[in-house]
Amino acid sequence: DLKEELEQRLERLELARKRDHRRLGRELGLFQFSETSPGSAFWLPKGTHLFNTLVQLSREMGQKRGYTEVRTPVIYDAQLWKTSGHWDKYRENMFVTESEERELALKPMNCPGHCQLYKLQRFSYRDLPVRYSEPGPLHRNELSGTLHGLMRVRHFVQDDAHIFCTEEQVHDEVVGCLDFAFDTYRVFGFDVDIELSTRPEVRIGTDEMWDRSEAMLASALESRGLEYTVNEGDGAFYGPKIDLHMTDSLGRSWQIGTIQLDYNFPERFDLTYTGPDNQEHRVVMLHRALMGSYERFIGILIEHYAGEFPVWLAPVQAVVLPISDRHAEAAARVRDELVQAGVRVELDDRSESIGRRIREAELQKIPYMLVVGDREAEAGTVAVRRHGEGDLGTEPVAAFAQRVADDAPSRYTANR
Ligand code: ZN
Repeated sequence: DLKEELEQRLERLELARKRDHRRLGRELGLFQFSETSPGSAFWLPKGTHLFNTLVQLSREMGQKRGYTEVRTPVIYDAQLWKTSGHWDKYRENMFVTESEERELALKPMNCPGHCQLYKLQRFSYRDLPVRYSEPGPLHRNELSGTLHGLMRVRHFVQDDAHIFCTEEQVHDEVVGCLDFAFDTYRVFGFDVDIELSTRPEVRIGTDEMWDRSEAMLASALESRGLEYTVNEGDGAFYGPKIDLHMTDSLGRSWQIGTIQLDYNFPERFDLTYTGPDNQEHRVVMLHRALMGSYERFIGILIEHYAGEFPVWLAPVQAVVLPISDRHAEAAARVRDELVQAGVRVELDDRSESIGRRIREAELQKIPYMLVVGDREAEAGTVAVRRHGEGDLGTEPVAAFAQRVADDAPSRYTANR
């Protein structure tokens, strides 16, 4: 009934408030914001660890799928933005400056830079597809009233990539993007819904081109047996797209991934490749981001996990807790051994009671607490306590290090 429904909604609101990433970001020492740079996070070491780990995950997964990483400038002459169309359509959202009577602007997205990079080279059909990824810093001049923690920022980095290919390669490339996407989401255990967005009212290109490109995306989805809903008219003006939404642990839906077919930039930048017939042909471009911006993705992860990150991602994986002063030396040895084994570990040998230090480690949501008392000091073992679960028993330090190493992202994608 109505009262029950209201209570459920209030309960959800309360849960969402407790999991608010801005609050947990502060409490867990991940990031801060300052009025000296509105909408741009100051990442503390633990937050930086999350950020770098996600960048590294996309880098490693990308390398296995034939992506190469590039680095392009952050600031460009207005001419580039005129070519891309941003100067007319998007200038209000860009940070514009000038130098020596030239107008310049910070990039709000990587695509025009990647088009420029493609154009600086020559490609034949044998070189394609070219897959460029770049975790480059982007800036968008969002109004200060719309800024919201990590969810809406002015400075961010995307797990962005652009694929330049022939029309015949589009199907396989889209399938490759979908496989990459679902491998990524499997690592986080996400539920993902798929939307295929088709031709909008205002668009470039012929109906024949749209028929073909929409069919290519649909057949890529169908070849993987993926269910999707069609979002009529919601495609970009330059081509259809596949959007990927995850549902978080509070039942909220977030768009995280997008795979877009683009016939516009190759036209505007005059991007071609030399075909087997020795003629120049127009290349097709795909934009894809699977996590979106790392900032927003981390915000979503914090709220989804309520700050209890999986072991492979947690900034601190274990804290060593000597029961009393006389176990401090043995505890320090455990810490050193685990550091050598690659475990991210801290030692808490403050003279607070063991109960209090365990409680604080639980509040910091550190996955493992390793208690060292007489028995453990003597045997070279640790008493393992799992956050939110309790005691797991005693094990040798090396066995614990292996337990942590076993929780690698590859474990979630290995059997595919
Ligand atoms: Zn793009």
